[in-house]
Amino acid sequence: MTIRLSRRAERLTSSLIRDILQITQRPGVISFAGGLPAAEVMPPLDFEGLADDYRQYGPSEGEPALRSLIAQNLSTLGMDCSVERVLVTSGSQQGIDLVGKLFVDEGAKVLLEAPTYLATIQALGVYGAEFKGLPLAADGIDPDDLRRAIAYRRPAFVYLIPTFQNPSGFCYTDEIRRAVAKVLDETDIPLVEDDPYRDLVYRPVDRTPICTYLERAPWVYLGSFSKITAPGLRVGYLASSPSLFSGLVRLKQSSDLHTNRIGQAWLARFLGSAGFDEHMARMIRIYGERRDAMQAALERHFEELAEWRAPAGGLFFWLRLTRECDTLAALHAALTRDVAFMPGDPFFPAPALRYSALRLNFSHAAPENIERGVALIAEILGEFAK
Ligand code: PMP
Repeated sequence: MTIRLSRRAERLTSSLIRDILQITQRPGVISFAGGLPAAEVMPPLDFEGLADDYRQYGPSEGEPALRSLIAQNLSTLGMDCSVERVLVTSGSQQGIDLVGKLFVDEGAKVLLEAPTYLATIQALGVYGAEFKGLPLAADGIDPDDLRRAIAYRRPAFVYLIPTFQNPSGFCYTDEIRRAVAKVLDETDIPLVEDDPYRDLVYRPVDRTPICTYLERAPWVYLGSFSKITAPGLRVGYLASSPSLFSGLVRLKQSSDLHTNRIGQAWLARFLGSAGFDEHMARMIRIYGERRDAMQAALERHFEELAEWRAPAGGLFFWLRLTRECDTLAALHAALTRDVAFMPGDPFFPAPALRYSALRLNFSHAAPENIERGVALIAEILGEFAK
């Protein structure tokens, strides 16, 4: 008997990255594949004194103490957002899913960067979104491209990761941030701004959220605690312009009632403690050293093979290969030699703008393995590049 599934379920494909992550859990594998915080850098999770108070159902919007810390933080960024418009989510991934539910009917157009975050392509694809990629350069997208694409496609919304983007590590200049906001304001197209990497900063650069520059266009801003604390907590948040908020809360309610309360309570306690600043300083120092170690290794082994920029923040190097290469085949070869990277192809929302590239994460591997892993990958790519 064949089981009839929804059209939505028939569109599901397995996530390449999750499949690779399974393999890279094997001991002895040097993995630059995932976007994982390093275990030795994550804060210890101590739930002492929290559990009993949070056994009952809680508010869909989230725990008041955590929401108010988030609202304070957003106001320091210049965002016009009171605590009433902060919704705690089960990771920012849930925020992406909720905007999909809010905006996307079958065939709705979504504009996003090419390349972009793989799991956004998957999450919005489930709702039948059709994607149009905007070529992404080191200083951002071209605002004129955005204007033209909006005029031609009338998208349901524009999804951008302007700060330390995944997969590229690129960061929009302030000039481009303002120009993008102007285009959105002129056209009234909603912006979904995904910003999980903003606090992982190794070199000072402008990181003002584009949302803060909007005067008319509706917006949703997505944040996360995964990269700065522990992704297993599954706590993120969103804030939005007034007209969108109640719809997002209702969708959150129908999805999972509320985010786990103990994780939220732990975060509220941790973010408000002196230990938090110490933790952030240590994390940034350690990741900064790993970034420098990877930059040095790339200079030694990739000069001929690729072009890249050392990222000012975030977790990734993005290598644009100088020769065409089947990076998926190269990955399979790499896995047999116990080293892993992410091929670039799945990060492109449509094949048209695709080029040979790979993403290397620098936060997870120990520094002594970075040189060895990068050298091995260069050797393997050399064999596969045409
Ligand atoms: N957005 C981007 C751009 C990401 O890179 C990630 C994590 N890799 C997420 C959202 C989801 O993060 P989380 O659900 O853990 O908050």
